[in-house]
Amino acid sequence: MSKKVVIVGAGPSGLLLAHYLLQRGENYQINIYERRSDPRIISFSKSRTFPISLNERGMSALRQIECLEAAIKAVSVEMTGTVFHQKNGKSRITSRQKPLVTLDRTNLVIVLLERLAQKYNKSRLDIYFDCQCQAVNFKNKTVNFKNIAVENNPDFTVNYDLLVGADGANSVVRAGFLEIENFVCEQKYYPTDYKSIFLDEQVNSSTELKSDNIHTWRLNDGTLMVALFQADGTMSGAINFPSEKNQIVGLSSTQEVLSFFRENFPEIGAMMTESAAKDFLDRPIAKILTVRCSQYHHGDSVLIIGDAAHAVSSSIGQGCNAALEWRISSGDRPPQFRYKCSSL
Ligand SMILES: Cc1cc2nc3c(=O)[nH]c(=O)nc-3n(C[C@H](O)[C@H](O)[C@H](O)COP(=O)(O)OP(=O)(O)OC[C@H]3O[C@@H](n4cnc5c(N)ncnc54)[C@H](O)[C@@H]3O)c2cc1C
Repeated sequence: MSKKVVIVGAGPSGLLLAHYLLQRGENYQINIYERRSDPRIISFSKSRTFPISLNERGMSALRQIECLEAAIKAVSVEMTGTVFHQKNGKSRITSRQKPLVTLDRTNLVIVLLERLAQKYNKSRLDIYFDCQCQAVNFKNKTVNFKNIAVENNPDFTVNYDLLVGADGANSVVRAGFLEIENFVCEQKYYPTDYKSIFLDEQVNSSTELKSDNIHTWRLNDGTLMVALFQADGTMSGAINFPSEKNQIVGLSSTQEVLSFFRENFPEIGAMMTESAAKDFLDRPIAKILTVRCSQYHHGDSVLIIGDAAHAVSSSIGQGCNAALEWRISSGDRPPQFRYKCSSL
C-alpha cells in the first residue's frame, strides 16, 4: 500500500521533493498544502518574490527530473559575471567560468508546479492552496490547517504516514520539534532587511547595463542593491540595507523614492517609473531569519527540509541551492543534511 505523504509548503524544496518521491513509482500518495494562492492562476504577486541565482548545486538537483532543467532555463537568464558599479560612474567586472541560471522565485515555483501537474494525476498528487498549517501533532500523526480563502477560515485536520515541513524559515512543522528532547534550534534575525524592486517597463535597448551580468551597487552605510535582467526583458532585484539606521524606512513619497534611486543608483533610477517607485514604497520591508537545527527528523515519520531546516542570509545566494541540493535515495545522502528518516 502506498504511504500518505503530507508536504507543508509548495516552495522550491517541497515541490522538488514531490517530484523525487513521485518519480519512485507508486510508493507514495502526495498531498501538498500551501498557504499562498496558486501562482499559476493569480496575477504575478510582487510582494514576496525576488530573483534567485542557481548554480551547479541547485541545477544538478533539478536535472535529475526529466525535462525540468530545460523548462527552467526557458524562463531564466544565464549570468556570466557580476558588475560592481561605483559611485563615480566606473565599474568593475568579475566573470564566472560557469554561468549562473537566474529567475524569479515565483517563476521557479510555477515551472515545478506545471511539471508536476503534467506528469501526475489526482490519484498520486493533490495540491491544496490557501491552506495555512496551524499546528502539528506528531503523536497522533495529524496536521491542522485553516482555509484562508474561505470566509471565517474554517479549520480542518489531515492525517499522514510521513510529514515533511518545507514551510520556510518560519516553519510551523519545525515548531513541533520544540517538544522533542534535546532538539536545539537557533533562530536569528540577520542584521539587514530587504525590499524587492521591479522595473516594470521593458528596459530600453540603449541602456549600457549588460543583460548577461548581475549588477550591484554598494553604499557606505552597508546598503547593497542587486539587479538583474529577467527573461521577459524587465529588470528586477532586491535592496538589502541595515535593519538599524538605514535610508529606506524614511522614504515617504514616490518622489523621495525616485530621488533616492537617482542619487545612489543612477542606472536604476533612470529606468524607474513613478509606478515602480510607488510599488516600491508600498511594498513592506522583509526581515531575514537564519535558522540552524540540531536535527532534521523526528522518528521515521517527520522531516524538515529547505529553509525550514537550515536558512541562511539571502546575501550569500545559496539558500535555494542548498534547499534543492539533496538526494533522497539511500545511496546518495545530502552532504549538509544528515537525514535519518528511514521511511524515505
Ligand atoms: C531577497 C532574497 C534573495 C535570495 N536569493 C537567492 C539566490 O540568489 N540563490 C539562492 O540559492 N537562494 C536565494 N535566496 C534564498 C531562497 O529564496 C530560499 O533559500 C528558498 O526559497 C528556500 O526554499 P524553501 O522551499 O525551503 O522555502 P520557501 O521558498 O520559503 O517556501 C516555503 C513555502 O511554504 C509556504 N508556507 C510557509 N508557512 C506555511 C504554513 N504555515 N502553511 C502552509 N504553507 C506555508 C510559503 O508560502 C512558501 O511557499 C534568496 C532569498 C531572499 C529573501
